[in-house]
Amino acid sequence: MDDSGETALPCDDKLAFDTQRQASAAANVAQYQHGAILRPYRCRHCSLWHLTTKTTNDS
Ligand SMILES: [Zn+2]
Repeated sequence: MDDSGETALPCDDKLAFDTQRQASAAANVAQYQHGAILRPYRCRHCSLWHLTTKTTNDS
């Protein structure tokens, strides 16, 4: 890890969650409050969980 330089990640302005469970809970709240369909995904940049509105048919 390099702490001396730029630490901004592409996802720096996104909500981040430690676990998929937390992300899923937040997604449920957002869906209830805003009607937004959100999917938790594991971030390859920060290894935390974010929410995305993109739906991928990866099943
Ligand atoms: Zn991230």
